[in-house]
Amino acid sequence: MNRKQNIITTAINEHAIDNNLTAIGVMDLDGLRKTVSDVYDAFPANFFHTFAVKANALVKVLAPLREYGMGAEVASPGELLIALTAGFTAQNIIFDSPAKTLQDLRTCIKTGIALNIDNLQELARIDTLMLEFPDSKSVIGFRVNPQIGGGKIGSTSTATTTSKFGYALLDEDNRQTLIAIYKARPWLNSIHTHTGSQGCELTLMAHGIKVITELAEEINAVIGTQQITRIDIGGGLPVNFSSEVIKPSFKDYAEVLKAQVPLLFTNKYQVKTEFGRAIVAKNGVIITRVEYTKNAGGRHIATTHAGAQILTRTAFLPKSWPIRVTGYSAEGIEKTKDNSAVVTTDVAGPCCFAGDLICSNQQLPKLELNDYVMVHDTGGYYFSNHFDYNSLPRVAVYTVSGEDNDLSMTCIRKAESLEDVLNKM
Ligand SMILES: *Cc1c(COP(=O)(O)O)cnc(C)c1O
Repeated sequence: MNRKQNIITTAINEHAIDNNLTAIGVMDLDGLRKTVSDVYDAFPANFFHTFAVKANALVKVLAPLREYGMGAEVASPGELLIALTAGFTAQNIIFDSPAKTLQDLRTCIKTGIALNIDNLQELARIDTLMLEFPDSKSVIGFRVNPQIGGGKIGSTSTATTTSKFGYALLDEDNRQTLIAIYKARPWLNSIHTHTGSQGCELTLMAHGIKVITELAEEINAVIGTQQITRIDIGGGLPVNFSSEVIKPSFKDYAEVLKAQVPLLFTNKYQVKTEFGRAIVAKNGVIITRVEYTKNAGGRHIATTHAGAQILTRTAFLPKSWPIRVTGYSAEGIEKTKDNSAVVTTDVAGPCCFAGDLICSNQQLPKLELNDYVMVHDTGGYYFSNHFDYNSLPRVAVYTVSGEDNDLSMTCIRKAESLEDVLNKM
């Protein structure tokens, strides 16, 4: 807990939260560097790790990730622009959107950005573009849905029978069709699958990867040469939101994968990953202030400024995305059962709907007016997804780095007060 204590002390001392600005996201760049080195340590040298930009699309977070050695996986033109701004070069970006326009595809093929084809209609567009740009440097693959079933969270399971993603491998004679597609196109050198995100068991993900690895072997055998040289195994390593423990680790995943698909751990293929949440989640926190407290029906309620606008998944699907909080006094002292009475608490957000809760019915040391609440494990898919961006950007984002008692904080996205906004009108 020491690092987090230092983060909150630094945030308070530097007045990072004031009266206009009532919630901040903080990314720990030292933590991020350690996580990236853990990924590279867990897998052999034929693995190249890209970061799924949708998990944290902030230039000042992506640029360090690039420096630490990651590539970028992008899923929209906006993310592509952000990745280029963060300094990723075409060779280190892969474009995986299910809805790429002809213009998107042309840009990728022209500039040598790798991409995975989602469906046969997209393939027809690529065929035309390959005639136009026969010397394209893009590494092109097919996204395959192995249709092996979903995990615990429906909305993040992408390998179900009816998933919207990729080419459905088990339908009718799709497997034979796909083999013929590869055979007719020597420029199809890669194959891709992404089984799902949070909620998928490691064995389920490894199973999907085994299916496409066997398919790659079969395609290469039919063609008679190793046309497919890259296997893109997607992301999806789940994150433990219930404590500080990192479980499963990248090493745990590597072990499961090695047991099920040992071929990937030889030098035969270049293997690409696309981890998102597991890279950033535990390296970020939200800090917000308790604006008011009250009691309703025996429930202690602490109203803060972090709700559905930055904790969207948790507010709308609290059972799938439960999240931990820790209270701190206005001076930054952690609230514990030794210094505060423990009461049944709801920690609420600022939005006007009843489900706008960070957590509900929790036994917590009593939160008081002007206390701070730290919301843990929010470095991915939370404050970086600023759904309120077009209204009033009230959530600033900081990076923190440095030795334990000498942290430095840098504001990477400023927040504006209502006054600032009105002054511009
Ligand atoms: C979302 C996504 C990822 C990253 O998923 P995480 O659960 O954040 O690791 C990787 N690849 C693709 C294609 C995705 O859509």
